[in-house]
Amino acid sequence: MVWCGKIATMETKLRLSHSQQKSLHSCTLSWFLQRRARMPQTTYWSTIAGSCFHERVDAKVTTGRFPAESIKDHVQRLVDDHLKNSPFDESDGIRVSKQLPSGLRATDHPNGFDKAAVIAAVPIWLNKWHRFMADQEADGWVVWAEPDGTPGAEVEVRYELGGHPVVGSIDLVMLKRRAIRDDQIALWDYKAGRSKPDDTSQLDGYRIGFEETYGLTPHQAGYWMARTGKEHLTATLPTFTRAMLDYKFAEAGERAAQAEVGEYHIDRTACAYLCSVKDSCPLVGGYLSELVALPTPTVRDGMIHS
Ligand code: SF4
Repeated sequence: MVWCGKIATMETKLRLSHSQQKSLHSCTLSWFLQRRARMPQTTYWSTIAGSCFHERVDAKVTTGRFPAESIKDHVQRLVDDHLKNSPFDESDGIRVSKQLPSGLRATDHPNGFDKAAVIAAVPIWLNKWHRFMADQEADGWVVWAEPDGTPGAEVEVRYELGGHPVVGSIDLVMLKRRAIRDDQIALWDYKAGRSKPDDTSQLDGYRIGFEETYGLTPHQAGYWMARTGKEHLTATLPTFTRAMLDYKFAEAGERAAQAEVGEYHIDRTACAYLCSVKDSCPLVGGYLSELVALPTPTVRDGMIHS
């Protein structure tokens, strides 16, 4: 077994991403096992597909070309990266989901969304993305460029919410030239999963981060769903104010601090399908759970206490 379950050193001011903040509002034991104990995680083939899609469109925006590497080789490289330093192999480290994305027929993929389905689905998503970009262009949008000329894909923004440093990576930033001082900026976040985000908190955080980093106020922000090729929750005005996001991140930070001392907020609705560290979880008898030093949890007042 290669895993040691060593607890990483806690930063004074915990750096949070939007996905960590979401995770801390779900099961904090899952967050602890992933981020602090750094236990190996399982993933889904759909997540591998999403990474392959993201990397290929980023390369296209940044260099003008899709990578020369075939999609099949690209998928294998992502799988190998995921399984590196992990006790899992492909069969137990990467999970098949039953739900196929639109464009794939169940009769062609009787096992569900597995490796073969990923290799079939990614080209379909890339075609949809081509159409999305063509529509954007027809509407007067071009890819925005950073001040040094770098095209606006995977644009990193750093800011602070609820007293925590936040780092975000905006998938695509577009620009529509208008009269001087009236240029418009659009922020896009690609989603390759089946479920649609239920709010704009991530996008509204990116608006704050983009404005703080570049001094430009975005005109709109939206998600773009790779499976359907459709926009989702695109809006000109934010829903979440800075104060609302400050509160969410401060609360996430408090929950992280509680997890540090063995007090976990448990969300058992996430155990069956969503938890990537179930094999390391002592509460469900995960077979790797003895490899990580956790305070012995007990339940009190609806919370798990050490
Ligand atoms: S298996 Fe359930 S209780 Fe355990 S870490 Fe995952 S979500 Fe939390």
